[in-house]
Amino acid sequence: MPVNTTAYQHIVKELSNTNTILVAVSKTKPNEDLMELYQLGQRDFGENYVQELVDKAAALPKDIRWHFIGHLQSNKVKYIAPFVHLIHGVDSLKLLQEINKQAIKNNRTIDCLLQIHIAEEETKFGLDEKELEQIITQIDQLSNIRISGLMGMASFSNDQHKVQNEFNNLSRIFTKIKSWILEHSGKEPILSMGMSGDYAMAIEEGSTMVRIGSLLFGPRNYTQ
Ligand SMILES: *Cc1c(COP(=O)(O)O)cnc(C)c1O
Repeated sequence: MPVNTTAYQHIVKELSNTNTILVAVSKTKPNEDLMELYQLGQRDFGENYVQELVDKAAALPKDIRWHFIGHLQSNKVKYIAPFVHLIHGVDSLKLLQEINKQAIKNNRTIDCLLQIHIAEEETKFGLDEKELEQIITQIDQLSNIRISGLMGMASFSNDQHKVQNEFNNLSRIFTKIKSWILEHSGKEPILSMGMSGDYAMAIEEGSTMVRIGSLLFGPRNYTQ
């Protein structure tokens, strides 16, 4: 399955009018595919698996910004801490504490997005609003963590209305804590929401960062 460079150019153009950052989600895809988009100017890539990310980061150009978008286990933080650009799916204080510890070891500050649970599916990870507020009160103790925004995943559903409501809910929470994030991080707060099937709606609802995989790289084959 070749990389869909036409779709890439189209999405880049579409996003250029909206101030939205594109993270090209390259999990399970070979280095050649990433390089094809790299050559077109893409620098932000997203991966879900620690070992795969570590291997790709070692092999590919050093100016790539690597986003970890999967569910990160505490015992694996150390492998990505030296180089990761942004960790999207942080949903516990325990994980933040481990990221902080590894960030200190590497003498850097690591940017993290807190994942909010917005989907109906119980299986999806994330914090509710109350847990978010609780975590925020403890961030000052974590010297090498920078909370730079929020992340969420909508239900896997054809019901557009439902998906829109979920994005809208995340956007509302984001609006509420935006000024805190700005003050804490000193950077424009990030709202990471939207994938191949729902990114247009996510942007409509206020997304500032979309994570797009299959639209660019084709469907994934997890068994290979
Ligand atoms: C795989 C993945 C994506 C990309 O999904 P597509 O539907 O292929 O665009 C985005 N976000 C997360 C968290 C993912 O795991």
